[in-house]
This record gives sequence, C-alpha cells and structure tokens, in this order.
Amino acid sequence: MAKKRSDSLQDETCVFCGKTQLEVGILVQGENASICDVCILHAHQIVEAELLKGNAKKSNNKAFQLPEHFSPKFIKNYLDLYVVGQDEAKKTLSVAVYNHYKRLTEQKDNDVEIEKSNVLFIGPTGTGKTLMAKSLAKLLDVPFAIVDATSFTEAGYVGEDVEGMLSRLLQSCDYDILQAEKGIIYIDEMDKISRRSENPSLTKDVGGEGVQQAMLKIIEGADVNVPPAGGRKHPEQQFLKLNTQNILFICGGAFDSLEKIIAKRLNTHVIGYSQVSERVDANEESLMKYVNHQDLKKFGLIPELLGRLPVLAYLESLSKESLMEILTLPKNAIIKQYQKLFAMDNIQLEFKKEAVSTIAELAFENKLGARGLRSICESVLKEAMFETDRDKSSRKITIDKAYVLKRIDNQLIKKSA
Ligand code: ADP
Repeated sequence: MAKKRSDSLQDETCVFCGKTQLEVGILVQGENASICDVCILHAHQIVEAELLKGNAKKSNNKAFQLPEHFSPKFIKNYLDLYVVGQDEAKKTLSVAVYNHYKRLTEQKDNDVEIEKSNVLFIGPTGTGKTLMAKSLAKLLDVPFAIVDATSFTEAGYVGEDVEGMLSRLLQSCDYDILQAEKGIIYIDEMDKISRRSENPSLTKDVGGEGVQQAMLKIIEGADVNVPPAGGRKHPEQQFLKLNTQNILFICGGAFDSLEKIIAKRLNTHVIGYSQVSERVDANEESLMKYVNHQDLKKFGLIPELLGRLPVLAYLESLSKESLMEILTLPKNAIIKQYQKLFAMDNIQLEFKKEAVSTIAELAFENKLGARGLRSICESVLKEAMFETDRDKSSRKITIDKAYVLKRIDNQLIKKSA
C-alpha cells in the first residue's frame, strides 16, 4: 500500500525526477519506488490529454451491463411507467432495443453478425417520441443526446456538421468515449430534411438530402472524427475518434401529409382530401399505421438512409382520455409535480376528476396536445402559487371544474393555439 514517508528523508527519491523528500512537497512511496507530487500532476495531465485525443481508453470504464431480467417485456413495462398509451410503438421499440443491446454482449467469434436496429418514430408532435427515447436511456443508464436534424447542413456550408451530434453525446457523459460508444442519440425533425423531390436533383440541397447523405456513415457505424465542442468554429481543437457501431439512433418526425402517400399506395381515400372514387374509406390516423419504407422514400428520405433505419413505429395522436392519464398517471405526472411543489409549503393540493377532465379537454380541443397540458396547469395554478408562503400553517386547496374555468380564458387559448 502506498504511503507517505517521513523517516529517512534523504534516502527516498522520486523515480521520475530524482528529487528527495526534502526537495519536494509530498513523496508517495510504493512497494519498490516513490513518486513526488509534481510528477504525479504531470502524469495526470498526460493521461487527460491522451484521453481527450482518443488515444487511450478510460481505465475506469465499466463493462456494459444489461439490467437484470432484461427482456422486451421488461423494457415495455418500464416505458409504461412514463409513457401513456402508444402500446404498439412501445412494443416495437422494446424488441428493437432488446436486439440492439444483445449485440453488445454478443460473442464475436462466429460468422453471423447481428446488424443494428435503429428506429424511426413517425407521429404528430407532442405524442411522446422524445419521451420514449429519453425514458429508454434512463432505463439502460447510457449517455443520451437529443439533436435537431434541421440544425445540420452538409459539410462546407453554413451551419453545423452532422458530427456535432456525436459531440453532444460526448458532452452528456463528460467525454467518456467508451460510454458514449454505447449511447443513444435521438434525432428530431427527420421529416424536415427530406429531399425536395423524389428524384435526384441537379441543384444542391445542403440542408436536406446533403444532411441525409452525411448521416449515412454515422448511423450505419464507423470511426468518426468528432470535434470536441463547437465544431468547425474551433478548427484548432483536436478531434476525438468515436466508433458509432454500437450507438443506437432513434429518429423521429411528424411527417405531415404522409397519409396521402399511403392512401395512394393503398388505393384508398382520405376523408376530406380527394374526390377520387375509392374502395376503402380511411381517416389519416388509421392509415398511418400502414406506413412502410416505400412511402417514406416518396416523402423524401433517401433509400440508403431508410435502409439504416429498419424499424418503423407509429405514434398515435393523444385522445382526451390519454391526456387525462398523462396528467395523473406517469411516475412524474404533471399533477404529481405540482402536488410536490405545494406540499413543500404545507399545502395539500387536490384535483377533482372533473377538473382533470376539463384541463385535458381544453388541451385536446385547442389541439395543444400533451405539450399544452403544462401551460394550462400553470395558468390554473398561478394565483394559488403566488399566494403560497412557507411560514403559513398547513391547509388544503381543491381544484374543481369551476376553478379551472375561472382561471382559464378559453378564447385566449384558442387564439394562441
Ligand atoms: P414529441 O413526440 O414531439 O417528441 P415529447 O415526447 O417531447 O413529444 O412530448 C412532449 C411532452 O408531452 C413530454 O415532456 C411529456 O410530458 C408529454 N407527453 C407526450 N406524450 C406523452 C405520452 N404518451 N405519455 C406521457 N407524457 C407524454
């Protein structure tokens, strides 16, 4: 065991710089050698620099461990705690993730190599796409980054390079390269980088097809040179080498009007969109579950990218009942959060069922979705929160339908929606 020596000061010297205990501050003694505090600091700086360059693997890297009893059902049960509804999407994701992480623990000595199961979520905004990816990262305890596809441009043009998404992942885990290599990246707004027409065009499309092309290599799995921070704005920074082979990419987008493409393929008719005589009537919602890669190609995603996103999942828009559940059921449901806030001031906050239903209805009718629930609750409770005071004695506030309606100017919501 290393120890600091105070006896025979002249005898002991640092094996690196040769100085004695009297010449240095601290001399740490090992079994057969000693090292001084200055040399320890130097060594530490060298190790840090090498790690940053990606030349060394972090020694404290723990082996990747799947949670006990890991199975698709286990993953789905966990997602159920946070995400309301979306059963089919949760099942699809659970299977994809289970297979993906089996790859990480796979023995590499046989001929069959399991490919990655990157996922593409399709569904209206505010239906839980990001929440699902985030909850998954929490379950697996792996680094997680959310990026916006529209913030990227093809290399050489104004904007951020796609490698920036890997910088974001590295930042989330304090530049631990080995951890980042097992992380999850959620790429939002994938529909906004579709190419302008289904056929290759002669004019440059640096924000659309150009970005899709640039993403190919990263999503498939390759050694990528990543700018540590700030991207091309700081060309003097050393690049880090990151292998993306085991990073799970989950992409998401609303893909508005995709249902028309699906309807055309299925030779059906979307109510309200066309006059064509048809065999089957279907609404947008029910058509979306038939989405396939061919439809997405028509929408403007390039086939090479689609090939790297083999798993498709559709998320439905949320019904009024789902919105009610979102307010009350998940582990960190919005109402539970407010109750906790009020409890800190000795106030018991009670929501009557009719109040929950009214809030859900306001969000639903004004097409605000789950994102609107929070702002409605904030308006409802603003006055009550303003009146709170830590020194007051305990009391109870009950929120009923009349209370909600009094605090909310429905017309105002309609205008801002
Ligand atoms: P998007 O589909 O646009 O990625 P998000 O996952 O960001 O939507 O959802 C926005 C917010 O709405 C989340 O923070 C979450 O609180 C809530 N939310 C949306 N969908 C659900 C859901 N299915 N279950 C629980 N909460 C949800």
